[in-house]
Amino acid sequence: MNHEFLHSLRQLNGEARPGEIENQSIVYTDDKGIVRVEKVDPEEAAVFNGGVQSKIYPGYRYPSENTLRLEQSLKPKVNY
Ligand SMILES: [Zn+2]
Repeated sequence: MNHEFLHSLRQLNGEARPGEIENQSIVYTDDKGIVRVEKVDPEEAAVFNGGVQSKIYPGYRYPSENTLRLEQSLKPKVNY
């Protein structure tokens, strides 16, 4: 639900990233300690990674999905 909330916020502000730009990489370590790279749509990477500077609200950076999970005392999500 946190994930969808962040998409909604970015859509409402007109700042969702279009799908036609190049996919981005999410790098994470799996439960066996293996570093893996996952290619995802740019909007998904923006929601997952957070920290994207808003163009309409100066000084505001979008939170990540894990920022919201931390606030709710949930374990971090490591991959998309
Ligand atoms: Zn998504």
